Amino acid sequence: MFIFKKKEELSRFLERQTDFLGKTGFVPTMGALHEGHVSLVRESKQAGLFTTCSIFVNPAQFNNADDFAKYPITIEKDIEMLAKAGCDVLFLPETSEIYPENEPPAPHYPLGFLETVWEGPKRPGHFQGVCRVVEKLFRTVSPAHAFFGLKDYQQCMVINRLVQLMGWEQQLKLHLCPTWREPDGLAMSSRNMRLNEQERKTAPAIFRELSYIKQHLAPGDTQPLVHSCTEKLVQEGFVPDYLGLAHAETLEPVTVWDGKMPLVCLAAAFLGTVRLIDNLVMNNE
Ligand code: AMP
Repeated sequence: MFIFKKKEELSRFLERQTDFLGKTGFVPTMGALHEGHVSLVRESKQAGLFTTCSIFVNPAQFNNADDFAKYPITIEKDIEMLAKAGCDVLFLPETSEIYPENEPPAPHYPLGFLETVWEGPKRPGHFQGVCRVVEKLFRTVSPAHAFFGLKDYQQCMVINRLVQLMGWEQQLKLHLCPTWREPDGLAMSSRNMRLNEQERKTAPAIFRELSYIKQHLAPGDTQPLVHSCTEKLVQEGFVPDYLGLAHAETLEPVTVWDGKMPLVCLAAAFLGTVRLIDNLVMNNE
């Protein structure tokens, strides 16, 4: 696996891989890798793509300084996992490489409604920060394919919008990949390693409630079901930011379901100081 720290060097190297014209894959991450991240690299490799992964803890997308300061870093292990998964290139930039001091002010990405719901108001500026780094990374790597996890469901919709805003639909195909879970249902996340033993035992309750909603969802008023599941999370010790149903593409909140509209249930809750997010598509079978 080739490792680059400078964007110009990486771009030049990738431009020389002419055998892989149109067959390049990209997996952006913030490191502290787990099987969920590795599954994205494997998908890219299985599609026969020359695969670049980036590890960069992006300060611009953290709206909570403590969360940024405590973000886990396990670079040696990450390199081992990526090499084992067959990743071709790792981009490992310093912050100053992505955000040089003389940079013009950050652009504003018109994300519209998408930024006003769910994670949007809870994490002001977060999706702007995500777009800012992903645009820079896409411009450096120029991939033909990019892989993102549906674990961050709203982020997937935002990246889709970013690709439209940049006019990249023809040259870049997005692959939105399934969420990898621990055997007890907890969605894999780098933040899980910050849970203490008791919190780790409690954490799968989010997926249990999402699954319960999926099982019991019926046309009509969905609020009693959703409220009772939110209440169960509170009883387990969570402090929920939200638990709710949304249109699976627009993310518009849905309280009365017509029995047909594609739905996703989105959840975010604190367990101690750790904020967990998860989601489940409701009517996909
Ligand atoms: P992160 O390092 O958290 O920024 O995540 C990097 C990429 O991995 C994003 O596209 C995430 O959605 C994806 N990802 C994170 N956790 C999982 C998971 N449990 N299953 C699948 N993909 C994931």
